[in-house]
Amino acid sequence: MSFKAPKILYVEDNNMNRLLVRRILTNAGYEIVEAEDGLSGIRVAQRELPDLILMDIMIPGMDGYQVTTKLKSLPELANTPIVALTAKTLEGDRERALAAGCDGYIPKPVDVDKLAHQVAEFLGGRQEKIDGGAEKELVWQQEYSQELVNRLEEKITELQKANAELRRTDELKSKFISMAAHELRTPLTVVQGYLTMMLDIGKQLPSEQGEILLASIQGIIKGTDRLVIIVEEMLDITRIESGTLNLHRSLTTIKDAIMMAFNKLEPAASERGQTVTIETLSGLPYIQADVERLQQMFFNLMSNAIKYTPDGGAINISARVTQGAELGSQNSAAGGSDRFIEIIFQDTGIGIEPEEQNRIFDHFYEVRNVELHSTSKTRFMGGGLGLGLPLARGIAEAHGGFLWAESEGCDEEKCPGSIFHVLLPVQDKD
Ligand code: ADP
Repeated sequence: MSFKAPKILYVEDNNMNRLLVRRILTNAGYEIVEAEDGLSGIRVAQRELPDLILMDIMIPGMDGYQVTTKLKSLPELANTPIVALTAKTLEGDRERALAAGCDGYIPKPVDVDKLAHQVAEFLGGRQEKIDGGAEKELVWQQEYSQELVNRLEEKITELQKANAELRRTDELKSKFISMAAHELRTPLTVVQGYLTMMLDIGKQLPSEQGEILLASIQGIIKGTDRLVIIVEEMLDITRIESGTLNLHRSLTTIKDAIMMAFNKLEPAASERGQTVTIETLSGLPYIQADVERLQQMFFNLMSNAIKYTPDGGAINISARVTQGAELGSQNSAAGGSDRFIEIIFQDTGIGIEPEEQNRIFDHFYEVRNVELHSTSKTRFMGGGLGLGLPLARGIAEAHGGFLWAESEGCDEEKCPGSIFHVLLPVQDKD
């Protein structure tokens, strides 16, 4: 007949204590699993389903009392004996441990000769009780509940402070981006001015010398133009964050804005062997919108579709009129009865993991390692600054619209593709 050693979980943050108890109990024939703090203690207990738990009380994070209360509330562990093992020997510690749900209490330092025997007793069903009967038990339980509420209050205060600190750091970050972008813009304008002058001079030089110089100047102009776009994107982000993105609205169709973006990106898509299909956009209602900003939003979505789709892939752009209510749970905020134009960008690219589908709209967020990126707008996986989507969403929202992503997941081999939905409200005439 085979004998299975009882499994003991020891929750303790001190290495030396863990080593000592492990040695004693292993020698006595027990199997030992360990956890160094309260939260991992709960995880290990759920995973390992031990026969008994030895619980240190003074552990980081949740203390031993709270971990015990939590473990006793889990059906799979409700009947597992939990024994407090602690150096706390103040008046009431034993009662507090029992009120929290412990079945017994062993004071530290442990007695090397007795520990294995004590553990065997608790495994055999020993259960300690608070002295003084049910009435005393109730008093200790009330005191323990009160302590829990006090602890909760302390934790909430700590979290509020940490949140205020995070908000302050976030404000500093936004200020820094705004200042850096403004400071960069002025010298960049000066450089652009000189470059235009140099281009004129280069054109007047004799042919061979002139050609080399012109090619170099054109290279610098291209780089500078890219820098200007980055600085403008940083400024736009700060405008969106502070709600100061001014729209120059006029009566327009989305067709104009989509075609403007398409004309800029079509050469890159062809170079990558991709097919971009734009389904008929005629017959859609006119909307009051900033056509430049819409173009910027569609450009970002289209260039992402190109970037995150392998060579030879397909990108489909379609649009339809829809009622907010039809969108149901997909976008509950739009679930009213207003009319929207819904524009859908669908690609056959690498896709996006469900848990990333919201985060990709955060500033500077990139799914992949930042060190691998280039700032290309169209190269396969050529990630940028991580501002394209937050800007696009900011533009959609400034128009009273919405933007969200859908995908089955991310797989660079199978390419499940992504779908981006943009909703722009149609201002119905009364
Ligand atoms: P980036 O400059 O990195 O492209 P974006 O804000 O435009 O920044 O996008 C953020 C991240 O969202 C990208 O780094 C990419 O991982 C993911 N992403 C955006 N569009 C797509 C898409 N069409 N397919 C797959 N992933 C995408």
